Amino acid sequence: QEEAAQGQRFAPAVTRDGHHVEIAANINRAEEVPQALAAGAEGVGLMRTEFLFLGRAAPPSEDEQYAAYCAMARALNGRPLIIRTLDIGGDKQVPYLELSAEDSSFLGLRGIRLCLAYPDLFLTQLRALYRAAACGPISIMFPMIATLEDFAQARDYAERVRRELNAPRLPLGMMVEVPSAVLLAEEFAAEVDFFSIGTNDLTQYTLAMDRLHPQLARQADALHPAVLRMIAHTVEAARAAGKWVGVCGGLASEPLGAALLVGLGVSELSMTIPAIATIKAQIRRRSLVELQQLARRALGCRSAEEVHAL
Ligand code: PEP
Ligand code: MG
Repeated sequence: QEEAAQGQRFAPAVTRDGHHVEIAANINRAEEVPQALAAGAEGVGLMRTEFLFLGRAAPPSEDEQYAAYCAMARALNGRPLIIRTLDIGGDKQVPYLELSAEDSSFLGLRGIRLCLAYPDLFLTQLRALYRAAACGPISIMFPMIATLEDFAQARDYAERVRRELNAPRLPLGMMVEVPSAVLLAEEFAAEVDFFSIGTNDLTQYTLAMDRLHPQLARQADALHPAVLRMIAHTVEAARAAGKWVGVCGGLASEPLGAALLVGLGVSELSMTIPAIATIKAQIRRRSLVELQQLARRALGCRSAEEVHAL
């Protein structure tokens, strides 16, 4: 079956009843784009820019960032590219900000909070992104948005840069990975161009279980009905506002997870490169109606174990 899936990796993920699910790749570096395309990706749903910033003594310059973002957009040859702004903190620390691991812990200055606290860092990245948009269709996504003010401030910085560069507008979206963002999904849906659900952090923050904790690894399960209900609520709010919603967390790379996400109404799955062919083949074997039923049953479960048993 795996061999057949690989052979069909360029065929789209269309369910037996004709519903197309967009399949994108998560990448950390520009050099991974050719691999993603060769694996059957239809675009990049999450480019984690922090990897340009890690393991060095100073942050990359605007020109260096521009070169990396532009190279990715060019390599994608017109396919969609969602670039996430810097998500430092939590498990990803850098020396040059002189922040302690406590200050920038999972509950501290992390992701967008850190960018809003260091505007020069953020503005430099935004300038590189708006310049790189001339190389291909780029969307900008902000990580760790917890409040409406977070998004409004991030958008204000983006808009300021766009005007300074006299650049065209780019779609501005947010990661949904904090429970407050889910609870405010209706309000956010009116402001954003798109949502991408980050199930890794959403699981960690919903269940209050550190995503790196070895003794909690089994329990910190994105298939927990509490997390699935968070996802369902987000999708409903997005749909009611006519906004696009994808998932770029690890759940999209898992066979049962991907099936449930399609059933919940997610329109794009962005995943690790090795998962692409398998997940596409799996979606082609199912009907949307069947996956919707599966999702409804999962939402009614009382534990992750019950969901797995489906
Ligand atoms: C997530 O939290 O699910 C996500 C995709 O972001 P990261 O894993 O980079 O925190
Ligand atoms: Mg995350």
